[in-house]
Amino acid sequence: MTKEQPPESNKFGGDASLCPHGNFAGSGCEACAREQKEQSQPALKEIESLVEKSSFTRSTTASPECTIERSGKTFTIESIEQADHPDIDKIQAMMVKAFSEEEVEPEEIMRSAIEGKDPWGHECVPLRYYTVKDEQGEVLAFCSGGLLDMKDTAGKSTGESVFLTTFAMTDKDKGVLGATYEAYISAIIGAAQEAQAQGKKLSFVAGPTEASSEKFWNATGWKRIYADTSSGDQKSLRELKYVEPSLDFDPATGEPTSDQAVYEHLMVQAFGDRQITKENVRSITQAYSDWSEWPENAFDSPEAYARSQEYMRSTREQLQSELNRGGELTFLNQRERQRAIRHGSTVDEHVDADRELNY
Ligand SMILES: [Zn+2]
Repeated sequence: MTKEQPPESNKFGGDASLCPHGNFAGSGCEACAREQKEQSQPALKEIESLVEKSSFTRSTTASPECTIERSGKTFTIESIEQADHPDIDKIQAMMVKAFSEEEVEPEEIMRSAIEGKDPWGHECVPLRYYTVKDEQGEVLAFCSGGLLDMKDTAGKSTGESVFLTTFAMTDKDKGVLGATYEAYISAIIGAAQEAQAQGKKLSFVAGPTEASSEKFWNATGWKRIYADTSSGDQKSLRELKYVEPSLDFDPATGEPTSDQAVYEHLMVQAFGDRQITKENVRSITQAYSDWSEWPENAFDSPEAYARSQEYMRSTREQLQSELNRGGELTFLNQRERQRAIRHGSTVDEHVDADRELNY
């Protein structure tokens, strides 16, 4: 005969059940509420750790819009969601200063993208900008991107999303150390809230990046993608040779307008228990490719549209064959890569992405 277990008791001698934090079940334990929220939206935990590493004091993580303070100076972070927002021309000016006039979208296209409209009047995923401003209202830094739906190979939504960043930058002259990092934290807060409102999980954040920004992205938790290409005793890794699909086409021919491929280091981070598998990388890049596609009425003829579709298909195939090379994926930051090399691994890096682009 087994001994009967005594009913669960607490320090008051009662038999009410307790949560793992020692509070009465149903008593509104804050730790329980936080754990439950983090489970449904794993990016929230990452936000906490980003904020811990910050050199600023943030007024709240309940909204992307907040104030941040350091050594007596206060800055404001805003989420730009209105096409008539007065700061859009400031963002535009900052981009023109960093790149060049031709490389930057005209202001009216930026404005419609914020509203979730492509230049041909179709609905699309809205482009978000999170700006850091000083007390005079000057924009010092921003992070932009879109919350994209992830789909399986059959094109069915998986219930997960990826926030794809398009830019994270600081003003060349007015920039404040760490301001871009703060804009990025707000971008993740905003993306997690948007995903929650859509009934989805923000599972990944990703973006095509330039070589010089690896340190910044490593600090936020992003890593580059490598496939295991070891043979026998020789350990080796091969970085994913990512080519960004063209964002610009000739409407008459359907040909991409840039005559050279844009090689970038694709960097990613997974939230919670999500894994960065080949399938997840495929789904992330597919979402970005779908977002970049031009609709039929953007072209002068059905033939030109067909040509652009053919180009998009070939970039997806190229990426898929890249993903098919080598074994399991590994994710390394700069330090981890250097350690692997010191320990005898050979690393075939995506050197084409290290060339500085001349804008
Ligand atoms: Zn609890």
